[in-house]
Amino acid sequence: MYLKTLTLRGFKSFASATTLQFEPGVTCVVGPNGSGKSNVVDALAWVMGEQGAKTLRGGKMEDVIFAGTAGRAPLGRAEVSLTIDNGDGALPIDFAEVTISRTLFRNGGSEYAINGSPCRLLDVQELLSDTGMGRQMHVIVGQGQLDAILRATPEERRGFIEEAAGVLKHRRRKEKALRK
Ligand code: ATP
Ligand code: MG
Repeated sequence: MYLKTLTLRGFKSFASATTLQFEPGVTCVVGPNGSGKSNVVDALAWVMGEQGAKTLRGGKMEDVIFAGTAGRAPLGRAEVSLTIDNGDGALPIDFAEVTISRTLFRNGGSEYAINGSPCRLLDVQELLSDTGMGRQMHVIVGQGQLDAILRATPEERRGFIEEAAGVLKHRRRKEKALRK
């Protein structure tokens, strides 16, 4: 399994549709300060279901939508699509290629899709949860996060391990079932 393409449209500084193509192995993103490198990482976290505006370096979720520049009007929606190569079947879905999409409208509306079929956030989270790319996003290690892990309480540390082991998915399902 590896990331194949990431398309941003109206996400943060990426007003026009922009597609990044990845190959298996290591990818480095380089560029001047403020050119959008971290925005690319934010887009990855966002399309995989990130719900925390702060994690995305904003004050509210709407801040991910292109806010306009001197020469360009603000946009009404942000869209990100991530295509994952599932040739090895690491994702529990019967497709060799899986595209996850997320759209947010300025009026607050939000949509998710897997291979073009509308779905819930929970479906995206479950699809990714056994890969370690789940809700808590420990696959993305931000500045200062290592420090947080070192200073975590035993309970928080158990959470990291549970997610890495794919246990969180079952805990979430259990919590959901008990709420009904
Ligand atoms: P550094 O090397 O300093 O870490 P970077 O390449 O990581 O820089 P980013 O943080 O990804 O840069 O991009 C910051 C730029 O994105 C800023 O110019 C900011 O104005 C712009 N930006 C962020 N959110 C939006 C938005 N909603 N609409 C328009 N531009 C945005
Ligand atoms: Mg940066």
